[in-house]
Amino acid sequence: MMRPCFEGWRSLLNTRHQGWPLALIALWLIGFGGGAQAANLSDVRVGLHGALTRFVIESDTKFPFRLFQLQNPARLIVDLPNMQRDVAELPLSNQSPLIEKSRYGLFRPDVLRVVLDLSTLIAIHQSRQYQNAAGKWLLVIEMAAPDASHAVTTKATEVGWRAYFDSRQFRTATPKSALQAEFTPKGVISAPRRKQSYVPIVVMIDPGHGGLDPGAIGYKNTFEKDVVLGIAKRLQNQLKQRGFRALLTRDADFYVPLAERYRIAQKHQARLFVSLHADAAENSRATGASIYTLSEKASDREAAKLARKENASDVLVGVSDFEEYDASVQRILLSMSQRVTQFESSVFASAMLKQLSSAINLKSHAYRSAGFTVLKSPSVPSILIELGYMSNPDDRKKLLDPKHCERLAITLAAGIADYFTQRKKNRTG
Ligand SMILES: [Zn+2]
Repeated sequence: MMRPCFEGWRSLLNTRHQGWPLALIALWLIGFGGGAQAANLSDVRVGLHGALTRFVIESDTKFPFRLFQLQNPARLIVDLPNMQRDVAELPLSNQSPLIEKSRYGLFRPDVLRVVLDLSTLIAIHQSRQYQNAAGKWLLVIEMAAPDASHAVTTKATEVGWRAYFDSRQFRTATPKSALQAEFTPKGVISAPRRKQSYVPIVVMIDPGHGGLDPGAIGYKNTFEKDVVLGIAKRLQNQLKQRGFRALLTRDADFYVPLAERYRIAQKHQARLFVSLHADAAENSRATGASIYTLSEKASDREAAKLARKENASDVLVGVSDFEEYDASVQRILLSMSQRVTQFESSVFASAMLKQLSSAINLKSHAYRSAGFTVLKSPSVPSILIELGYMSNPDDRKKLLDPKHCERLAITLAAGIADYFTQRKKNRTG
């Protein structure tokens, strides 16, 4: 397959090749270090050999991988499933004229992703995996600027990729987050069905960023992705205490594509979606929380700029169009049901604003709107909250203070509960 589509990824985990004999899968697993046992990333390096740039990924055991290029901007992506990381960072930039920047981190719960920002789309002369004399397994990617004999290749190369995901069918795991539940093959876990007379309301909490996308970076390398995950977990607790079924789009440090976040909410039939963020501004005096809903035309320039910044997460992480959730279907649905959802989102935002204004410092004009990708669910009322500024010393101090975070979680839970009380009143009154 030229480009492994997103469907492909999902079906790998579900039905495909179910008829494969177990022995065949077992053989694959032996070949890739036992499957369930993670390989260990021991080194990543770049070498210049004339016009060739040699990019090497080294591990103690054989490992599956997938690599592909994306354009606008030009990037080379290498996905390493079930790979542990030992290197703190990737000192790859400035070692080759082809590589401008590099980053890595978890993309999905168990795929380590390396992203190289390229100066131009490259010709991959070869990519090969072999064991060297020291017993290490190397993936060597040789690349150069395209020329007459080597053209740009945007085709994905995969080795052991499918086999790894197929192997997951034979593992049983308890899904922790909503996303991990998505990744659990159907039929593996059969929870006993109990008759329930009371069906709790599902609220989807979305901690922004994650994995190789740190979000806003504050003083002493404090990351937005960690701050919002902590608050999301506290909010989950608060909502559970109020009888809601609160789910997280991610419960650990991995990235979830933006469209995937609201798709998870839809799949779990969430009644509300709350995306949590903490902003950064060049002006360190900028302070306070703010709430956003989706609109085609932004309410103001600042909100438009913020939406562009938040939407850029997928670009930073290298989410390719084949991993986006069925965009064409989404567009059709948007026009049909979005007006109702939009209205509910604004009711939700107002309820939340009221709660927040009595508890924390808000920006002036704290309720705004713009084209945030993560808020594009056609059926789930959605808001995005910037809980404060990582770039402001006071805001940051509060966001790192467990007491303040708990207070925030209580306030957010109250805002959510208020929305449902209002809906109920409207229905009965
Ligand atoms: Zn953010």
